[in-house]
Amino acid sequence: MDHADPSKPNTDQSDLARYSRQVIFEHLGEQAQRRLLAARVTLIGCGALGTVLADMLVRAGIGYFRIVDRDCVELSNLQRQILFTEKDAANGVPKAVAAAKRLAEINADVAIDPVVIDANSANVESLAESTQLLLDGTDNFETRFLINDVAVKRCLPWIYGACVGAEGMVLPILPGITPCLKCIWEQPPPGVGPTCDTAGVIAPIVHIVAALQAVAAIQILTGNTTELNRKLVRINSWTGSFDQFDLQSARDEGDCPCCRHGEFAHLAGQYDARTAVLCERDAVQIRAGTDMGVDFEQIAARITPIAKSPPTLNRYLLRFDVDRYQVTLFRDGRAIIKGTSEPDEARSVYAKYIGT
Ligand SMILES: [Zn+2]
Repeated sequence: MDHADPSKPNTDQSDLARYSRQVIFEHLGEQAQRRLLAARVTLIGCGALGTVLADMLVRAGIGYFRIVDRDCVELSNLQRQILFTEKDAANGVPKAVAAAKRLAEINADVAIDPVVIDANSANVESLAESTQLLLDGTDNFETRFLINDVAVKRCLPWIYGACVGAEGMVLPILPGITPCLKCIWEQPPPGVGPTCDTAGVIAPIVHIVAALQAVAAIQILTGNTTELNRKLVRINSWTGSFDQFDLQSARDEGDCPCCRHGEFAHLAGQYDARTAVLCERDAVQIRAGTDMGVDFEQIAARITPIAKSPPTLNRYLLRFDVDRYQVTLFRDGRAIIKGTSEPDEARSVYAKYIGT
């Protein structure tokens, strides 16, 4: 879906005109804009944070933007996920595809590459391939630790961002220089604490966190890393408070298995789970044991007699309603089972209607 060749950014004066307000900003200028136009970035997770980040950075003129997301647009996303419409929700369009379509309308100079896939230990290295910065738009620590492993292994900067309720956190990670995620948390925090499922999330905090991530991205991509705020920033948008924590000693004095010893346990699959209870709704994701490449037509033919309505089938997914569940099956064999938050129940639905 390349709209432009980012290796040859068109940087004559007329093409820089649309970026004029950015170019005249004292810390950037023409040289920095050219760097942005040549920059290649991967965004993992295109929900609340991801859509806001992508919107800002595509407008800013990042040359190549890869968007990785496993999910489809739903009505309850629209309160905060700014690139999607009611029509996208009604049609269950994959988020990466819906975002790419909207972003191409905003800035046709940017090469936007949507990838509908669940980032996991087997594919995350290829998702980071030939890009220079990774952006965290995920909602879970399992994926963040994978991003951290690949970032440290390949010495790619990445920018952690998270929000729940009215609160959020941001931390840029420069491998080899600043603490990595594993310097701070040894392993994914167990399923404690509020999630957007239990505490909700309001749109303003999403914009604040994504804005700080975007500033860090622009600074890193334009070589302004001396001005980068390397502290963990914690924001409460409800009270208007910002706190900052200097965590540099966690790297300097720590003994991190990842960035000190080069052990990439997450990338090696040691933390892989076949099921994940999805944030925000009554749903469980089941991963196929391998990328088995399912035959949609065959499964649709089998399901049609027992489904409540004709299955939806397009190039990305097969969706059907059966019993009290809605099953969305992707080409790689991954499925989202809606109607339960019990992994065991979801696994049995998968086995019954799709196979093992
Ligand atoms: Zn570390």
